[in-house]
Amino acid sequence: MAVKIIIDKEEKHTRARLGRLSTPHGEVETPIFMPVGTQATVKTMTPEEVKDTGGRLILSNTYHLYLRPGHELVKEAGGLHRFMNWNGPILTDSGGFQVFSLGPLRTITEEGVTFRSHIDGSKHLFTPEKVMEIEQALGADIAMAFDECAPYPCDKEYAVAALERTTRWAERCKASHQRKDQALFGIIQGGVFKDLRERSARELMEMDFPGYGIGGLSVGEPKEIMYEVLDHLVPLMPRDKPRYLMGVGSPDCLIEGVIRGVDMFDCVLPTRIARNGAVFTHRGRLTVRNAEFARDFRPMDEQCDCYACRNYSRAYIRHLIKSEEILGIRLTTIHNLHFIQNLMKKIKEAIREDKLLEYRDEFYKQYNEG
Ligand SMILES: [Zn+2]
Repeated sequence: MAVKIIIDKEEKHTRARLGRLSTPHGEVETPIFMPVGTQATVKTMTPEEVKDTGGRLILSNTYHLYLRPGHELVKEAGGLHRFMNWNGPILTDSGGFQVFSLGPLRTITEEGVTFRSHIDGSKHLFTPEKVMEIEQALGADIAMAFDECAPYPCDKEYAVAALERTTRWAERCKASHQRKDQALFGIIQGGVFKDLRERSARELMEMDFPGYGIGGLSVGEPKEIMYEVLDHLVPLMPRDKPRYLMGVGSPDCLIEGVIRGVDMFDCVLPTRIARNGAVFTHRGRLTVRNAEFARDFRPMDEQCDCYACRNYSRAYIRHLIKSEEILGIRLTTIHNLHFIQNLMKKIKEAIREDKLLEYRDEFYKQYNEG
């Protein structure tokens, strides 16, 4: 098996667990946060800088790389790892989320999704077989099955249809996936309906994937609903397989996801808000580009020991961002990635000591006060 998880410890008071995920490009500890490298780059960061923040496994986007530069070119370059100079593990999404988000630019049939490129308007067809061809050419350690992500809100009838199609497409993905050095994960859908989540999990588990994504959450529903779905769904998932909550990465959702037994997360949030001049701090989110920080010579986060916080002030970083100097958003990106990876480290320590709930309360107290 290309990818395998070994669970070393389960926390006493929650469903949280510590594990090691082995991949063809090395072993990583779980729970893990995966920074997103949409265009085969974590925006503004070199691979060494991503590693310095604690990043070990990164996610890249099938939809974007297929359109530009094209999966065949990446294959010709020796695969995604070599193309982007990242020698650690990589996961590619299936493009499902992107093509379903295109709205009027796409049509869904049983065969697949026809869509127009957001770059030049050209017409394309993603079928489960085509997506497998692309993901195998990219050559990530983990490939995600092509699924239909239902929007929120959506009625039950639509959620059922999306779930059933996701199961049929998962079968087609499995049938056309050949690479032995790549693990194919199935994606559980079912919207916010507990019985549908249960059904989707059961149907996919019958196919025996080496890991499972939880899709269709964090698409606009209140956080409490997402937590309820996780409370119900995660205990039904296999104990010996990795569980990946897709598109989730705010500090509170990471903590709550781990508490509910999730092993893997990805999200553009830390890097995206960094480019807008906003950062996470132990005392809540801070928009460093705001005028109030013009003469604030403290670091972005006084409790952070990242490269940016050790060396630069809020005033200086604000000046860089206001002047549209690239270094400004590089520093906020370094900080945000470090902040999230440091949070994951603290979460793992708390699991080891069976004190995750205490850690959560302590974190929230400060985070919400600030
Ligand atoms: Zn920092």
